[in-house]
Amino acid sequence: MRRESMLDPLTKIANRKSFDEGLADALTEARETNTPVSLILADIDHFKTFNDTYGHQTGDQVLRLVAMTLKSNIKGKDLAARYGGEEFVAVLPFTDLHGAVIVAENVRKAIQAKELLKRSTNEKLGRITASFGVASFNPNDNAVSLIERADRCLYAAKHAGRNRVVSESELVDIVEAPKDASAA
Ligand code: GH3
Ligand code: MG
Ligand code: MG
Repeated sequence: MRRESMLDPLTKIANRKSFDEGLADALTEARETNTPVSLILADIDHFKTFNDTYGHQTGDQVLRLVAMTLKSNIKGKDLAARYGGEEFVAVLPFTDLHGAVIVAENVRKAIQAKELLKRSTNEKLGRITASFGVASFNPNDNAVSLIERADRCLYAAKHAGRNRVVSESELVDIVEAPKDASAA
């Protein structure tokens, strides 16, 4: 990481600004070298309830833990960033959709596996889970369309019950056509 200004102050992983730059670079490279690049979007489940129950400070600690869990499950040229609030993102160059789903599943399981304990009081805080959306770059994409697709997958994961990974291969893209106004 080049500068402090590229890091999220709370979690010390890349911030939104470095994510935007890193994704732009990754998409350029993917186009030039005709290699895949995938995106994982993650959002902690029911985090508002967690904050309301245990307090914002404890919530902040959990955000640090999730950031570290994401980071420790990626490697090499991959980029993990805090996308905002309780949302995280990973850019995985040279990784197709199938590979990215495996990474997302690993992160999901690692988060779920952690039993949270407040050291100062020995209070058990239970477990948290996260939901994931995974999309892969295609030649018609730009950064916005790729993020938008991953976000739709994340939304589908939430809708399907949370604590799961949904990839774009599972997105239902057959919808009812709008009514033809002229036929009315
Ligand atoms: P869902 O499963 O649908 O994602 O539910 P949610 O409660 O996680 O989603 P919602 O968007 O309603 O709430 C997000 C919460 O994340 C609300 C806010 O208190 C918390 N949050 C966002 N940023 C921070 C932060 O920097 N620190 C802490 N402690 N909490 C944060
Ligand atoms: Mg959210
Ligand atoms: Mg959430």
